[in-house]
Amino acid sequence: MRARRVGMFGGAFDPPHNGHVALVQAALAQLRLDELRVVPTGHAWHKPRPLSPASYRLAMCELAFGALPGVVVDDRETRRAGPTYTIDTLRELAAEQPGAQLYLVMGADQARALPTWHRWQDLLQITIISIAERQEPVTAEAGFDSNNFPQGRFEPLQLPLMPVSATEVRALAARPHNAGRGIAQLVPAAVARYIEQHHLYLAP
Ligand code: ATP
Repeated sequence: MRARRVGMFGGAFDPPHNGHVALVQAALAQLRLDELRVVPTGHAWHKPRPLSPASYRLAMCELAFGALPGVVVDDRETRRAGPTYTIDTLRELAAEQPGAQLYLVMGADQARALPTWHRWQDLLQITIISIAERQEPVTAEAGFDSNNFPQGRFEPLQLPLMPVSATEVRALAARPHNAGRGIAQLVPAAVARYIEQHHLYLAP
């Protein structure tokens, strides 16, 4: 019997958008995951911008991913006091599901920053890291080269480039009455409705 495959996909999800949804669908299918934990961050130590309250981000994650079979929106990092680290979450998942093969799913921009993560080398001991390409600003730093790291600890995720970011969604939502492109093309319809109903991201 093959080991149960459990994925983790962390992020601010402020808000979740179509790029995240495509990545989740690709991870479920290509890595043949039995379960994928979508884990909104608590205090994101590497993001200078204050995040929207966790309750909003969790609710939007449920709307964006909750109906996908195998996905569990996991609030544990939002309940942790102080900075939250991926290694701690993965260790908890490993303890909860002994014998499972863990996969950590991320976009290429995150993978490039991996060597700055807390105890990132320990991550490679307990998880396979699966990386989806992401459209980058031309100024992006030199690419992350998984060949420099232990064999078999990385798996590419095939995903068409999705030119969308939460930054762009927030910028568009800040001026909803300006003519032009709205957020409807960039986020699931239920998330767009939630943003509107809760007046999220409006410019002060
Ligand atoms: P922001 O614009 O606020 O920085 P974001 O769009 O990068 O947000 P996050 O919640 O920070 O979204 O990202 C969570 C994870 O999703 C990260 O691993 C990131 O690399 C990945 N990701 C986000 N958008 C895309 C995309 N368009 N294509 C591939 N991966 C993505």
